[in-house]
Amino acid sequence: MRYRDQFRVEPGSAPRLAAIDPSFKDKHEDKASAEEELAAKTRRLRELQYLVYADGRRSVLICLQALDAGGKDGTINHVLGAMNPQGTRVHAFKVPSPEEAAHDFLWRAHVHAPARGEVVIFNRSHYEDVLVVRVHELVPEAVWSRRYALINEFERNLVENGTHILKFYLHISEDEQLERFKQRLDDPGRWWKISESDYTERARWPAYRAAYEDMLARTSTEHAPWYVIPANHKWFRNLAISAIVVDTLEALGMEAPAPTVDIAEIRRRYHAAARRK
Ligand code: AMP
Ligand code: MG
Repeated sequence: MRYRDQFRVEPGSAPRLAAIDPSFKDKHEDKASAEEELAAKTRRLRELQYLVYADGRRSVLICLQALDAGGKDGTINHVLGAMNPQGTRVHAFKVPSPEEAAHDFLWRAHVHAPARGEVVIFNRSHYEDVLVVRVHELVPEAVWSRRYALINEFERNLVENGTHILKFYLHISEDEQLERFKQRLDDPGRWWKISESDYTERARWPAYRAAYEDMLARTSTEHAPWYVIPANHKWFRNLAISAIVVDTLEALGMEAPAPTVDIAEIRRRYHAAARRK
């Protein structure tokens, strides 16, 4: 089965994260055995992104959500690293600035949504407003519980304007998170990544799991589906996400745009110029 079907959260379903194996690696033994497939997907990803850019009529929005050390940065490095910087962009969602906080919660997402021809990755996203905001009770339930419907409408608006939306939840286990925290602690070059909140948020794992499960159940739609990606193995996560993005773009049947000039005439001019050289 293709990862696009296997990991997609069926609209209307209510997945239980405990039932999804974060260490899943399909038929692959290890990173080395997946290398060739990954390299092929990466190459194709670059070609397809170039077509989005050349075509200039549609755009792609990739939302990444995960708990701390879930692998968002690594995914961006891999997926975006495969693409041409021309036509791609990343936007990270932090604690809202005073200006952002003074607007409705979707304002800051809308302003960074991709323009036609662009592929944009959201590192965290408007979904923080039903995740961290819910877990920390930053707004009352009456407010955050209405946001699922608002998000679905917002995304529909983007889709109807030519944006293709893919949303990935990077699913890691509690053990894997602790292991990654340890690796950060053991590597002074990565100390800058450590924050106080890593451990306080970790202690809220059950609350986050509940918030993520509701998010998946209420906002995986036909127009903007969620994918739950087994992410304990970084190489498998990269492979699965690359494959899903490739399949999605492949299905659009894009071709390089038709020339805006008469190629036969341009060819004549070229030969005339070459003769005069
Ligand atoms: P990082 O992704 O590690 O740079 O951390 C960004 C922090 O910003 C995380 O702790 C997020 O939970 C937090 N954050 C992002 N969006 C919001 C939001 N809408 N309200 C409150 N905190 C947020
Ligand atoms: Mg962090």
